[in-house]
Amino acid sequence: MRIVSGIQPTGNLHLGNYLGAIRNWVRMQDEWSAKGGQCLYFLADLHAISMPHSPAELAANTREMVAALVSCGIDPDKSILFNQAQVPAHAELQWLLNGTARMGWLNRMTQWKDKAGKNREGASVALFTYPVLQAADVLLYQATHVPVGEDQKQHLELARDIAQKFNNDFCPEDAPLFTLPDPIIPPEAARIMSLRDGSAKMSKSDPSDMSRINLTDDADAIMQKVKKAKTDPEPLPGTVEGLAGRPEANNLVGIYAAMAGISPAEVLTQFEGKGFGQFKPALGELLVETLSPMAARYRQLREDGEALDAILAKGALKARDLAAPTLAKTYQALGLVRG
Ligand code: ATP
Ligand code: MG
Repeated sequence: MRIVSGIQPTGNLHLGNYLGAIRNWVRMQDEWSAKGGQCLYFLADLHAISMPHSPAELAANTREMVAALVSCGIDPDKSILFNQAQVPAHAELQWLLNGTARMGWLNRMTQWKDKAGKNREGASVALFTYPVLQAADVLLYQATHVPVGEDQKQHLELARDIAQKFNNDFCPEDAPLFTLPDPIIPPEAARIMSLRDGSAKMSKSDPSDMSRINLTDDADAIMQKVKKAKTDPEPLPGTVEGLAGRPEANNLVGIYAAMAGISPAEVLTQFEGKGFGQFKPALGELLVETLSPMAARYRQLREDGEALDAILAKGALKARDLAAPTLAKTYQALGLVRG
């Protein structure tokens, strides 16, 4: 059993990134390694060049993301953590699979249509072939399971189609080369909203730093931001239905629930009738308790570029070893001579 999952490198990580993405990875790592499974987690730096980007930022974000992942609980001894750029087999297998993927299949991908928009002629070729690289990312390791959100289901389906066609076209019937990976739907990720506006997503691009809790914030900053968070004057209701039409209250209750590992209904049972004067300090303390140790480690790690590069280099070595047999068999199946 092997999970392969990728994430785009991004910097200035915040509570939304943690609850919406990173925490699921940590949970999967712990669940799967307890069952004798293996998780491969990669930073999708090769994917990042499919859109206009700044090279300096890409390099910085790659290191930041490693710092965040490790400080939030990804253990490089339990999971294999690496970036695509250090495992050339990703790009190689993509090229080999380009012979099998069909133009018609890629043309139907909604992400391509959305991202290229009306400017198809001006879009990068990488944006078009992006799903083939994604197929290579998982087929390379014979992944049995791939976590996919709603927006990535179509790409996993494509990876399965490519694998199946390759197996049919180039492998004996009783010895298919590629494993067809099954989707696993990650537990519903919390969607965290801005602390200044309950209808906007918490995001690193929001110009107001008060709108988000950064993973680098210290205890004082967290307490301050929660205290200043926008709310309404009503006390908390006893049921979730009572939060309708109160986006800011809903968001804070949602954050409390996600951090405490309980449901919003349970939070309301605890705080029914209490005003924000009581709820906010409780929420602030809960956040400080959980985030402070991670934040301290994150602040320390992100300053140590060498340590971060060493983590990635070590992960890449392991990933290359795992990838080598499948890559070699793919060359061979295609009749490509390598002495
Ligand atoms: P940008 O404003 O540049 O889009 P961002 O803050 O939204 O940045 P991303 O880099 O787009 O962050 O997202 C990285 C990961 O974090 C993605 O998996 C995304 O779904 C998740 N994520 C980002 N913001 C939130 C949020 N507010 N709530 C839950 N998940 C989030
Ligand atoms: Mg975003």
